[in-house]
Amino acid sequence: MSSKPSHSEDPKKGKKISANENTNEGSIAKLKAKKGRLPTANQLAEAIINGDTVALSRAITLTESTKPEHIEKANKILELCLPHANNSIRIGITGVPGVGKSTFIESLGSYIANKKNKLAVLAIDPSSSVSKGSILGDKTRMESLVNNPNVYIRPSAAGTSLGGVARKTRESIILCEACGFNTIFIETVGVGQSETAVHSMADFFLLLKLAGAGDELQGIKRGIIELADAIVINKADGHNIKNAEKAKTEFNNALHLYQPKSNGWTPEVLLASAIENKGIQEIWELIENYIEKSKTDRSFHQKRAEQNKFWLYQTIDEHLKSNFYQNERIKSALGQQLKAIENNETTPFAAAQYLLSIL
Ligand code: GDP
Repeated sequence: MSSKPSHSEDPKKGKKISANENTNEGSIAKLKAKKGRLPTANQLAEAIINGDTVALSRAITLTESTKPEHIEKANKILELCLPHANNSIRIGITGVPGVGKSTFIESLGSYIANKKNKLAVLAIDPSSSVSKGSILGDKTRMESLVNNPNVYIRPSAAGTSLGGVARKTRESIILCEACGFNTIFIETVGVGQSETAVHSMADFFLLLKLAGAGDELQGIKRGIIELADAIVINKADGHNIKNAEKAKTEFNNALHLYQPKSNGWTPEVLLASAIENKGIQEIWELIENYIEKSKTDRSFHQKRAEQNKFWLYQTIDEHLKSNFYQNERIKSALGQQLKAIENNETTPFAAAQYLLSIL
């Protein structure tokens, strides 16, 4: 394995982004030159299993494609990679824009990568098709991670639906694990439903918060707190330390109002300064404790099994929906029905009934 950094494709922008493809990057190029054609699914899977991150990036790009031949190839690669996956811990990280997610990921990521872990950083950003990639894709602040030979960073796929974007991220997790990454971070912005999607693919779910002016508990989406396995109050530095400590007490009190988690885990509130690398070791130790405990009591495996079942249904839903909307007859009838609704000639329910009946 060479440690020479190379580049991967940013699917949204069609430009090269710097990423760390710390492996035998020549192998795929050689395969291509030898055969004069693109590597097969078998060749790509073999290269991924051997730790080739160029092959990994290519396979992820295939999972993100909508072309039937790419989907077929991606599915074959996933099937071949699956027996080599699952050997990692998956950590979901969420928080509103500006809370310090990328700074925190850089800090925690560097800490664990320096402990000889191989880290893949993925993202779910359903807004990326609109905003052209608001997370990870344009993260210049993650420079030290990008240049770390133990780290692979892939921005969120673009997509029209959260389900579609989330599925691609989930497939990327499998591919990254098969490629030897033993720690996966999945970042998402704390707005909308994307936290639920990340929660459904993470072993440990971390919520980043900021200390406010004493009214921290207002405006918090109750649902997100319920999902969190730990809350980290970031930017606990400088003049903000006192506020952060106060917020920690308030969150701790608030957490006691919730039902304990099914595995008996009580979420903890920790302070951090991502920018000063403070509190990072404690957070990692907490995550390690959680993983150890949940592996001992088997809740780790139960959770993954539940998540797999959830993803079966999600995938079916997604498939049915996309088949429906991509159907040519539906497309034209949908236009007519929308017009009819606008003109008060039909009800939304009758229109939906009609559309569903013509497929
Ligand atoms: P994201 O939008 O959640 O990814 O947030 P960023 O990581 O981009 O950080 C937003 C801003 O907060 C940047 O200006 C960071 O330098 C700053 N920031 C991040 N973490 C800390 C921290 O621990 N302390 C302080 N004081 N500033 C921070």
